Amino acid sequence: MIGAEVAALPRDPPLPWPRPQSLMEDQSRAIEPDTAGPKQAALPKPEVAHPDAAKPEATKPEATKPEAKPEPVEPVLPTVSTTCRDFLNSGQVEAKRVAAPRAGPGCGIDEPVLLTAIRLADGRRVAVTDAGAMRCDMARAFSSWVKGEFAAVLEQDGRRLETIVSGASYDCRGRNRVKGAKLSEHGKGNALDIRGVRFAGGATAQVGDKAKPIPMALFESACRHFATVLGPGSDGYHEDHMHIDLALRRPGSHYCRWQGSSK
Ligand SMILES: [Zn+2]
Repeated sequence: MIGAEVAALPRDPPLPWPRPQSLMEDQSRAIEPDTAGPKQAALPKPEVAHPDAAKPEATKPEATKPEAKPEPVEPVLPTVSTTCRDFLNSGQVEAKRVAAPRAGPGCGIDEPVLLTAIRLADGRRVAVTDAGAMRCDMARAFSSWVKGEFAAVLEQDGRRLETIVSGASYDCRGRNRVKGAKLSEHGKGNALDIRGVRFAGGATAQVGDKAKPIPMALFESACRHFATVLGPGSDGYHEDHMHIDLALRRPGSHYCRWQGSSK
């Protein structure tokens, strides 16, 4: 049986076509290593101010170089409503339109803006850090609150607000980062997490910090301005920040929970 199999094999298998000489030559050139080594860098000659001195030769090759024109990549900015445009141009905030962040399933921001500072009633500037893109309506509501009761509550002891430290508004995820949970308002840029504030002179107040606490009155004030307010003592997920959002609820309805909250 073995002998029969061997006999079945062709005796002279066809040879591959010879490669054209020119192709082989080209290849050998292409892989030729660069053995020239680094060129000796010409040290610049010390500048001698002489009235008769001609222009240095070194400037000539520059002129013959092809002009490299980097093409600026313009982000596509969504159009915004007149209300939003008026807010951005009000002079009361430092905020601008931004490109919508990449949206996951069900997520996305309507009229995304970046808010970086808010002017208080007396013109002082309060920086907002790390908020990232958020819905224009959320930025408007937050700015209006900061300008009013937020500043009033935090400055009642004479300290002067300088910075609001926040977490990113937009985050495409389920509520409390629980997989499969209902989409968080963060997924629409419709929420903000406030971690604390810094005052002029360096003092701070931080949510969940017993030594430098955020006044409870700030939670009560937030509940008058936002649909949802969650803080330490609410559900275990908000021990170091105050969550505020503009979730759609029945008119006048709020969901506010923090340590000692009555609602
Ligand atoms: Zn939150």
